[in-house]
Amino acid sequence: MRCPFCTHEDTQVAETRESDEGDVVRRRRRCPACDKRFTTYERAELAMPAIVKKDGSRSEFDRNKIRASMSLALRKRPVSMDQVDAALARIEEKLLASGANEIASAKIGEMVMRELKKLDKVAYVRFASVYRSFEGVDEFSRLIKDI
Ligand SMILES: [Zn+2]
Repeated sequence: MRCPFCTHEDTQVAETRESDEGDVVRRRRRCPACDKRFTTYERAELAMPAIVKKDGSRSEFDRNKIRASMSLALRKRPVSMDQVDAALARIEEKLLASGANEIASAKIGEMVMRELKKLDKVAYVRFASVYRSFEGVDEFSRLIKDI
């Protein structure tokens, strides 16, 4: 790393220390050119991608909103909130692992549908029908046939 004082290209790490939680690495660096010291912090960048809607507008990933729409689809179905949360965690994990800065809302919808399909077929059809806002009777009956 470049020295912030004299812009010397090659500074040396004098000390490396992990935070107690292990999520931040702190390094003391020394510049061999000007002998100044500075600290850098290294942490994983785990940010949810922004959601891009059909009209091009962006919004933040909203876990509660997705959770609410999933539980609405699962109303009166024999699926526990623990199962919903586990499904949500899988979706979040995939999003984080993708490293993408933004993702189409349609993609999120597909991920939710895939998880619902595994949890409960009725909830899946409910969600899919609302989500795709009945783009056609054919679409809906094709969905039902898929199950
Ligand atoms: Zn320097």
